[in-house]
Amino acid sequence: MKKPKVAFFDFSCCEGCQLQVANFGEGLLDILNLIEVVEFREVMSEKWEGDFDVAIVEGSITTPHGVERIKKIRDRSKVLIAYGSCATIGGINGMKNKFDLDEIKEYVYKDGAKYFETIPTRPVHQVVKVDYFVHGCPVYQPEFVKVLKCALQGIPYTVPDHSVCVECKLNENECMYDKGLTCLGPVTRAGCNSWCINNGNICYGCRGMVSNPAKNGQMDILEKHNIPLDWVVNKIDMYNKPRELEETETNGKKR
Ligand code: SF4
Ligand code: SF4
Ligand code: SF4
Repeated sequence: MKKPKVAFFDFSCCEGCQLQVANFGEGLLDILNLIEVVEFREVMSEKWEGDFDVAIVEGSITTPHGVERIKKIRDRSKVLIAYGSCATIGGINGMKNKFDLDEIKEYVYKDGAKYFETIPTRPVHQVVKVDYFVHGCPVYQPEFVKVLKCALQGIPYTVPDHSVCVECKLNENECMYDKGLTCLGPVTRAGCNSWCINNGNICYGCRGMVSNPAKNGQMDILEKHNIPLDWVVNKIDMYNKPRELEETETNGKKR
């Protein structure tokens, strides 16, 4: 039987999500038996000239060259998966959208700034059509496997749209607010099985916000623990800045 051709691509990102796959070990073997990986820069040097059944795209679009490249990949792919928060919501790259682009380019590259083109950070779906989303910084491996299986079978995957707190409560964690810390669980999209809190950390909101965040509930928690709103807003900005561009026109169409 002909195996589906799967390729991994990276745009502006740290490539940590691809590393999650490279480090997956035995859990991925079942899937690798079902697919043919034809391009994956982190683990192989071969390139594929033909079309892809599934393109897995990591990173956000932050340069004019990136826009042209993602369009070409989209044209060659039956299915495109946005992989990791940089790709699905812009992620930490979105922080640059808070600044004047010329100023930060000079700050970073000094005299070399003229050699680097830059545009506001956009998640992949604001430039081309995306069929599946795997959120997270980095992605949560069990969710990636679930999404890839859906993509290979051509069935939809619904990203959870309730808060991380739901998973956190089911995992019987002690709330970080009761420990005197702040946590973005109340407004952040679940699907990671409250990964960070299970491991003693807070939620930084890496999966993006739920579509209808319980703002009043979050405000009540802040009030109860006497925490200034700024502390939480600054944390939200770390991953969620490109949301302000959500309605921007791309390719002549609203996406
Ligand atoms: S989502 Fe996070 S881990 Fe993944 S590529 Fe972006 S910065 Fe790296
Ligand atoms: S605020 Fe954070 S620690 Fe508390 S229940 Fe929600 S996710 Fe868990
Ligand atoms: S707990 Fe929060 S920061 Fe950690 S993986 Fe889940 S959404 Fe991301």
